[in-house]
Amino acid sequence: MNTMHITVIGTGYVGAVTGACLAEMGHNVVFVGRDQRKLDLISSGVSPIFEKGLDDLLERNTARIRTTTDLAGAVRDSEVTFVCVGTPSLEDGSIDLGQVEEVSRTIGKSLGSDGNYRTIIMKSTVLPGTTETIVIPILERESGKKAFLDFGVASNPEFLKEGTAVEDFFYADRVVIGVHDDRSRKVMEQVYEPLDAPVFFTTLRTSEMIKYTSNAFLATKISFANEIGNLCKKLGIDSYEVFEGVGMDSRIGHQFFRSGIGFGGSCFPKDVRALIAHARATGIEPFILDAVMERNEAQPANLVSLLERHLELRGKTIGVLGLAFKPDSDDVRESRAVPVIRALLREGARVVAFDPIAADNFRPLFPDIRYAGTAKEVLDADAVLIVTEWKEFEDLDYRGKIVIDGRRIARARREAAIYEGVCW
Ligand code: NAD
Repeated sequence: MNTMHITVIGTGYVGAVTGACLAEMGHNVVFVGRDQRKLDLISSGVSPIFEKGLDDLLERNTARIRTTTDLAGAVRDSEVTFVCVGTPSLEDGSIDLGQVEEVSRTIGKSLGSDGNYRTIIMKSTVLPGTTETIVIPILERESGKKAFLDFGVASNPEFLKEGTAVEDFFYADRVVIGVHDDRSRKVMEQVYEPLDAPVFFTTLRTSEMIKYTSNAFLATKISFANEIGNLCKKLGIDSYEVFEGVGMDSRIGHQFFRSGIGFGGSCFPKDVRALIAHARATGIEPFILDAVMERNEAQPANLVSLLERHLELRGKTIGVLGLAFKPDSDDVRESRAVPVIRALLREGARVVAFDPIAADNFRPLFPDIRYAGTAKEVLDADAVLIVTEWKEFEDLDYRGKIVIDGRRIARARREAAIYEGVCW
């Protein structure tokens, strides 16, 4: 294998995982970040985020890992630079490219006049055409050089799932790489040479579109499952059994049919919104994608209205189990716990909440609710809402409790005195 010198910009979920995995593959990796505390953690072999297996990888590879806040210096000293900065939503749902543009300017200035060929890889999720029409022009303007002649460019969107991100990297269904020239393609082949995963080469903008299409399709599957789930609930049918039967059709499959209270996280909502805004700007009316978001926004309220069938909320204490947007993650971005708690407070309830690891990240969003030290404390409330399907919630004693379940915890379903599932 050909060891490469690689810079990874951004030490969030994608940057931290990508850098650690590249080091594990044998490359020398420099993490560039702005938060010295996070960089110090990485240097000492400790993960800055909660992600299974990441501590082990960082600890095992400290000899191959460096950290710095000096973006320009890191780019100059590297053959390859991965851009893993955030691409959040603007107010109107369109994509905020501020971080991408800012790092592109610094990278451009750092491409240097030493004649060394450097390749810049966009791993951040960006709309089709962004690398060609925004990133490359900035790089060329700031460097005075020509893309594909003096430096290489590739698109390499990330498909990891928080909670299983390390596994997803090493056992990827596919690695998607967008390139425009042979030299960038060869560099990417070298980067991924040690990885035993199918690599799909395509153009820059097709690669960018694959990322949005994948996320939009998965989000659609969830909203579809929720719409059918709501209907099942009204008809007294168990939607899980319905989707078990439906998923046996090999054209359809089982994944992503867990009906419940909808999707959150840092990707699905913002990527679907960005695609909607982009479609509209392009003159395409995104009927299906609009409906996917509408169903998702409406879904958490069902949990609270089911609770109101059993309890007048004013003055009552309601327990909320789960604050992370999904289990095995400390990420609370767009967590469904946010609209659920907002609705409870609006109805005059008091809230006591528990999450095994995400409470500290959640606290700034709702500083005035009570955060319990254990799940058991939450069960002492007047009623309990299950918002995240942490495995350990299967071990609780729900006997005698009122439980409204947004995620299908089997034990609660079996034991609770009063139990309602949101889609079953
Ligand atoms: P994040 O917000 O957790 O991390 C982004 C990091 O970039 C932050 O640590 C920020 O400080 C850093 N950064 C921004 N500007 C910088 C600069 N000038 N210099 C150094 N560091 C800088 O975001 P994330 O979840 O890691 O996502 C990154 C990208 O990957 C996004 O485009 C996202 O849509 C995409 N993505 C995320 C996931 C996921 O599950 N989180 C999965 C696939 C793709």
